[in-house]
Formats: sequence, C-alpha cells, structure tokens
Amino acid sequence: MRASRFFISTLKEAPSDAEIVSHQLMMRAGMIKRQGSGIYTYMPVGLRVIRKVEAIIREEMDKAGAIETLMPVVQPAELWQETGRWDKMGPELMRVKDRHGRDYAIQPTSEEVVTDVVRTELKSYRQLPINFYQIQTKFRDERRPRFGVMRGREFTMKDAYSFDRDVEGMQKSYQIMFEAYQKIFTRFGLQFRAVAADNGAIGGTGSHEFHVIASTGEDALVYCPTSDYAANMEAAEALPLIQARAAATESLVKTPTPGKTKCEDVAQMLGLPLARTVKAIALTVEKEEEGKVAKENWLLLLRGDHELNEVKVSKVPGLSSFRFASEAEIVEAYGTLPGYLGPINTKQPVRIVADRTVANMADFVCGANEADYHYTGANWGRDLAEPMAVADLRNVVEGDASPDGKGVLAIERGIEVGHVFQLGTAYSAAMNATFLDENGKPAPLQMGCYGIGVTRILGAAIEQNFDDKGIIWPQSIAPFELVLCPMGYDRSELVKEQTDSLYAQLQALGVDVILDDRGLRPGSMFADWELIGVPHRIVIGERGLKEGNLEYQGRRDEAATAVPAADMAGFIK
Ligand code: ATP
Ligand code: MG
Ligand code: MG
Ligand code: MG
Repeated sequence: MRASRFFISTLKEAPSDAEIVSHQLMMRAGMIKRQGSGIYTYMPVGLRVIRKVEAIIREEMDKAGAIETLMPVVQPAELWQETGRWDKMGPELMRVKDRHGRDYAIQPTSEEVVTDVVRTELKSYRQLPINFYQIQTKFRDERRPRFGVMRGREFTMKDAYSFDRDVEGMQKSYQIMFEAYQKIFTRFGLQFRAVAADNGAIGGTGSHEFHVIASTGEDALVYCPTSDYAANMEAAEALPLIQARAAATESLVKTPTPGKTKCEDVAQMLGLPLARTVKAIALTVEKEEEGKVAKENWLLLLRGDHELNEVKVSKVPGLSSFRFASEAEIVEAYGTLPGYLGPINTKQPVRIVADRTVANMADFVCGANEADYHYTGANWGRDLAEPMAVADLRNVVEGDASPDGKGVLAIERGIEVGHVFQLGTAYSAAMNATFLDENGKPAPLQMGCYGIGVTRILGAAIEQNFDDKGIIWPQSIAPFELVLCPMGYDRSELVKEQTDSLYAQLQALGVDVILDDRGLRPGSMFADWELIGVPHRIVIGERGLKEGNLEYQGRRDEAATAVPAADMAGFIK
C-alpha cells in the first residue's frame, strides 16, 4: 500500500467527548468517524484492524468446526414473540415497522433466527452437533453509548450458536468454543482473562466471560493468582462461601422464600413499566408517630444491573411512592456511584442494601423477570443500624481466601470482549426446535451461544497498548505491520530506488507494508505512524545509505538501530 493512495487523516487533538484513551486515540488516528450517538463510520485505517480481527476469529472458528452463515439484521418480530423476548427486552431492542405496518427487530443477537433455521433445516440427529456462526452488525439501543466503539449502539459481533443432542454434548461444544476463544485472544496478542460469569437473564447453566485486562474496564474481576479461580464480581459474590460470610454478618436478606408472584403482577401493583434496569430506588414512606404522619425518604440500593432483570418492592407499610433513583441521588447518598452493580442471581438470596435502618420495611417481593423466581417475604435492612459505606457493598475484597482454598483473591478490572453461554433448552423449548432421536422421537436441542465484540476489541487493545505518542498495535491486528519512511522519496534517486526495492521485497515476503510516499517532513511523518501505532518502522535516508545502512525502529524501542540495507528484509522476517 502506498500512503499517497490510501486515506490517512490524523488529528492533533481529540474531540472533547472522547473520555478514555482508546476513544481519543482512535479519533486522533482517524480510525473512526462519529455519525451519531454510538454510531460510527469505520474509516480505512480502522477497517483494516477490524478485518484482521475478523480474519483471526474466522480462522479459529472454522478450525473449531463452526460453520459460517449470515443472518438478517432486520428480523421479523414473530420470532422474537415466540420466545417472549419481544416483550421482555426493554428499549435496548430496536424495533422498526415496514410499510405494511409489520414489526421487526434489528438484531442485538440472533438466538431466535438461528433456532428457526435449525428447527426447519435440520433433518436428523446425524447432523448434530452443529455450530453456526456469523460476523454481523448488531444494534443495541444502549442507555449510555460511550467510549467510542467500546459501547456503541451499532457494532460488529461474532456470534456462534451450537446445537447438541444432550447436555453432555452441549458441554463438549462449549469446551471447544472456550478453547477456540483462548486461541483467538492469544493470537490478538492481548493480555486477557476468562472468568466464570453469572448467566443472568439469559438462563441456562454455565457461562464465562473473556476480559481484556485494563484499568479503565467497566467490570471487576476476582481471581486467585496462585490457582485457576477467576470470576467476575457478580459471580464471585454469588458463591456459597461469600454467602456464608454474608449470613455470618447477618446483614441482609432474611429467609426469603421463592414465590410465584409474577413480575407483571408486581409491576401492576406498583404501576411500573416492566423490564427496566434498576440500580437504585427511592421510596417515600409515611410513618405515623405520636399521631402525626411523617414522610421519610429512603434510597435503596439494589444490586441489579441487568436489562432483563426486574427488582420489585411491595408491601412496604406506609409506602406512598416509589420510583427509580437517579444517578445524582445515588451519588448524593453514597458519595460516588458504586460502580457496576451485578445482576441479581434470583436463585441465590437477593442482596439489597439500604443506607439507613429500615426496620419498618418488611415483607418485600423481589426478584427477576423469570417465572417462579421471585422471593416473597424478604426483609432487609433490619440489621443495618449504621449507614453503609460504598466499600461495604462488596462482599468480595482483595485478600479474601479463594473459594478453592488455594490462595487469596486479587481484584483487577477488565473489558468484556467475549462471552460464552450454555443455554440448555431455553430457546429450543420456546420455539419447539427438536430433532428426531435414534428412536424417531422428537427431543429438544441443547444450545450454547458464543459472542465476541469485534469492534470493541479495537478499543480494548488500545486501552492495553499505548504511550504518549499514540497507539501500539500488537502485530497480528495492526492496520499495517510495517511502514517505510523514505527521506526525500521525490528528491533522491538513491532513496527512491532503495525504498522501491525494499517495498517489493517485503511485499513478496508477505509483510503488510505501507510506503509513506506523501512527501511529508520527517517529524510529521513519524508522528502520524506513531499515533496510528504501526509496530515496525524503517527509515531510508541518503546519509545512512552512503554507509549501506537503513534505520529500523520498533514502536516500543527507545531508539533506532542501523541495519545494513542488504540484510533488512531478512532482519524483518
Ligand atoms: P456489556 O456487559 O458490555 O453490556 P453484554 O454482556 O451485554 O456486554 P453480550 O450480550 O454478552 O454483551 O454480547 C457479546 C459481546 O458483544 C460482549 O462480550 C461484548 O464484547 C460485545 N458487546 C456487547 N455490547 C456491545 C456494545 N454496545 N458495543 C460494542 N460491543 C458490545
Ligand atoms: Mg449489554
Ligand atoms: Mg456483560
Ligand atoms: Mg455478556
């Protein structure tokens, strides 16, 4: 590639809305252009990285036996109605109508469509197991799109879906994908960690997230440096050991009993919309004291942040109003936003923390938007005579004993770049996706699903690899592996000749090389490539050539190294 025929558009300053370094550097390096909230054009430099990321994913998915397909971005609502997600998914699901007034979902994920494909196209159990994947545009109308491609609304995801005859098979397919993911993230050259995750609202039995380690990550990861234990904070907190500790401090829920209260009922009772993420609720309680009615305002912090989860409160004596608290209110009460509050695992005791004694508030109904998993009779806050500090909201802290007994826990932050789930029959049962077994009897398919945030990888890679000059791409996903910077390409015959010859040699060797023939001054030229983050640079100048040398500098090197021109091609390979 010749830079004069490519499109490079760098900026000295990042736009002021770019809050984190990857967003700033992607804007400055001309990788993306913002077209609207969470919506970007991938500019040529950015697209090259995306294509490299996709190529690695594709190779490893193919090797792992997954089969590529491409499902529609615009999906008929009927399929989403079959699984109930048309109603359950809140505003994150983008809905559109066609000219006939028919409803469609813009895919945020594709379980419904792939299950429909399989239920109609699969003829026999002999075709199982099968794993279909796609690399496709997704749309999620995120509440807070931010950090550039990190949390976009339109983004690219690789999503794969496995189908098996039985649970054992599903677990095997899951393991194959888990290993493929380890290979993929290793090939990206990124420092990552796979952590056990909570399945949240998607249901099912097993799940892991893959995180790129970065201090700016939205998620807290709990791991044991001396063993294999690793979980995200929510999953870590749900562990029996941690629950035992919570019980020992007698802080929270008292003997909740799983009830049959439906979300719909509770929502109706409270006059609330269904399916809202809840972080905190503000209650107004009227108390009668010495004949006078006093109003008290409560801020309850609920450990829930899952779009599909529901947290409902009812039967509070004197409850006169109820609403979701704003972030500002939480900040006022706690001094800070308590970061990411994990989804409520409805099969475990619900953890809810109040900032004051709530002795009169009892018999709550709470739980998630999943039938039969609500708790009734939950009383909390009784023992919280003192206000709790934000730090106390965490049950897992650095230095806690690892649940496997093999050391102590450490906490670090990560960016979720991949997620694997064992879904079981949640979708196949809802959509009647069965196969005929050996005896010709229909049985529901066991599913797994596996996502990688293709475009988010770009941001995550930069969060982990940058310096004050710009991005430092790992070689495998760099927009170009190497840049040739001739000094006076249009002035010196010698320089031009040497540059062209080296360019041809490197191309023949399969190096992804760009020749900067734009005629820029050395300072601007170097600054561009350092900002864009090309891992290798060769400077070709008359002075060096007179001694038979070229200058090589790796992006992380302090200084250039003189390399004999004749050896350069070999030196690079
Ligand atoms: P998050 O917790 O960050 O909202 P998620 O758990 O909702 O992500 P999944 O449904 O697990 O996301 O989707 C699979 C992958 O898609 C995620 O691991 C992530 O890498 C990527 N992804 C999800 N939402 C976005 C987004 N808004 N922008 C870019 N990538 C995303
Ligand atoms: Mg999400
Ligand atoms: Mg997540
Ligand atoms: Mg996820």
